[in-house]
Amino acid sequence: MKAVVFERYGETAEVREVADPEPVEHGVVVRVEATGLCRSDWHGWMGHDPDITLPHVPGHELAGVVEAVGARVTGWRPGDRVTVPFVCACGTCAACAAGDQQVCERQSQPGFTHWGSFAQYVALDHADVNLVAIPDDMSFATAASLGCRFATAFRAVVQQGRLAAGEWVAVHGCGGVGLSAVMIAAASGARVVAVDVSTGALDLARKFGAAQCVDATRTPDTAAEILELTGGGAHLSLDALGSPATCAASVNGLRRRGRHVQVGLLPSPDGTTPVPMARAIALELELRGSHGMAAHTYPGMLELVRSGVLRPDLLTTSTVSLDAAPAALAAMDTAGGAGVTVIEPWS
Ligand SMILES: [Zn+2]
Ligand SMILES: [Zn+2]
Repeated sequence: MKAVVFERYGETAEVREVADPEPVEHGVVVRVEATGLCRSDWHGWMGHDPDITLPHVPGHELAGVVEAVGARVTGWRPGDRVTVPFVCACGTCAACAAGDQQVCERQSQPGFTHWGSFAQYVALDHADVNLVAIPDDMSFATAASLGCRFATAFRAVVQQGRLAAGEWVAVHGCGGVGLSAVMIAAASGARVVAVDVSTGALDLARKFGAAQCVDATRTPDTAAEILELTGGGAHLSLDALGSPATCAASVNGLRRRGRHVQVGLLPSPDGTTPVPMARAIALELELRGSHGMAAHTYPGMLELVRSGVLRPDLLTTSTVSLDAAPAALAAMDTAGGAGVTVIEPWS
């Protein structure tokens, strides 16, 4: 099969022929029809993820068709249209037993702990625990977004953020996850303040329902601007980018008893990120992380997508072939871009 492979961190990946994957006994191999380009892929390529060993094939938000099934898989057969959460759970640890597969103790992640979906085929573990059927009328490009960016945003806003209609929500960083969060929050009846450094990203945020936009290149103190725009601070705030500056701004832009949800990865050199904890104490703030979404909680989100309340299809702004993927990955620098690129490995 063809796959995007990199041998060294930060050096341009190449498209080459590699061996087709085989399913393990509890796993499947999926023919990849669409796979999104995510900032986490860029972090992995840059060497920020300790799970990756070289050479490596990135890619973790995918949809496709089951090609081959391991001997112990009971729920899936070749031809099934599927997606998968990027956190693939083991199904048997204490976290999985509690229904928290998104923080599984023995998780695998395609594109991180093993070769991912920037390829024509990808192997996935524990298929009976992790695969999610996608409706016949949903495109593969749309379904791919449910593997990472859209599901991650959904859990951050709805499950971890416990958003209520009428609340103010601040979203720091309007890449794929951030724009998804803007759409989900606006559809939930919240008033959204979107923050980004890109006018293109803010234009999309406005289109997806943001009531207010803050251009961080023109507003040095984005937290002060949010306190002003929301009449005292956001009820819920997401750092959807992942940087010490956006994390702090998210916490500092909250009102009393507000909730901060950290979604963006924080690749700090020393492994820790400063957080304004004095404010967290004084205002009784709540700080939470959010990490993917368990496969068994997908049906509620899928129904909102099917009914048209949520439109993840609108987030895709470009579609490219596998051959164009290495350049698209390299172009995904810290400045971010507007919208989401989807790779179609068979185009
Ligand atoms: Zn991702
Ligand atoms: Zn587990």
